[in-house]
Amino acid sequence: MSEFHLLIADWYRQTKRDLPWRNTNDPYFIWLSEVILQQTRVDQGIPYYYRFIEHFPHVDDLAAADLQSVLNLWQGLGYYSRARNLHQTAKFISSELNGVFPASYAELLTLKGIGPYTAAAVASFAFNENVPVVDGNVYRVLARHFDIDTPINSTAGAKLFKSLAENLIHPKHPALHNQAIMEFGALQCTPKNPKCSTCVLQGSCLAFANKTVQERPVKTKKQTVRNRFFHYLVFHVNAHTYIQQRKGRDIWEELFQFPLIETENDSPLTEIPWAQMNQVLEISAPITHLLSHQRISARFYHIHSSEVKPETDWILIQNAALQDFPIPRLIDKYLERHSL
Ligand code: SF4
Repeated sequence: MSEFHLLIADWYRQTKRDLPWRNTNDPYFIWLSEVILQQTRVDQGIPYYYRFIEHFPHVDDLAAADLQSVLNLWQGLGYYSRARNLHQTAKFISSELNGVFPASYAELLTLKGIGPYTAAAVASFAFNENVPVVDGNVYRVLARHFDIDTPINSTAGAKLFKSLAENLIHPKHPALHNQAIMEFGALQCTPKNPKCSTCVLQGSCLAFANKTVQERPVKTKKQTVRNRFFHYLVFHVNAHTYIQQRKGRDIWEELFQFPLIETENDSPLTEIPWAQMNQVLEISAPITHLLSHQRISARFYHIHSSEVKPETDWILIQNAALQDFPIPRLIDKYLERHSL
């Protein structure tokens, strides 16, 4: 048994947080929690987890729900493709596998939206399969403990860290080992200000010895960020407004929004095909919304008009009904401060 495993397992037993998905072996609940926690902080994810298991206590319940109600519950978490994949995979498990979750890493990997990380988490936490979980926390702990300068987001890095994690995992306690190293990265060996002075691994940590903790892990340069300029048209038509559903392979697919004009630069619109400029009551200051590879600058145009000729995909709704539609977080944030 490796010293590394003994130390973090012992640390985990004493320090772990009591998180709701840790008190279950149900692969459906574990899968839900893992999908929610991708790109989401634990404290932000907990209410969503409770909401989902309350509305959909079994994978068959999630499968039977319509997509819009799933997206509504997901609202605020961002990265909506996660919710769509969740729903699609639930339908597949319910209809093709009689509601029974696949019980191995290899089978889990064949499901839509389940990559190596989620498959390893579900296989080890629910079925105690001997497969390592390698998430951002694990990369960081390993890169520091073994003082590795191979970029974690390179092909060579992915291979190296995976094989290191495979060598370290305890074959009889894979779930405990995976939970422990992930929690260790989340609480002790944190991205900023790791708690080296109280660390149980300090004696064997090579980055600590070599004073390279702040330089680990190494990442190759980030992908360039695409700037986009959105102009939302908020029509005021006798306490009604128009919305449209986003289509095509783009961000926020199938969510609803005010009719949108996208331009190549940040300048406000000087003409709007469906209205006269003197009907524009107000133009908001640009609001910036950051996604992983896109920076969106959005303006909202409040337009008073009772005679709009709508496009075929526009839907006229009462202002108050807007809350029943899943909308991007950017619009949600705007509406928190500006009621219709
Ligand atoms: S000594 Fe510091 S860098 Fe090394 S494992 Fe512990 S917390 Fe992480």
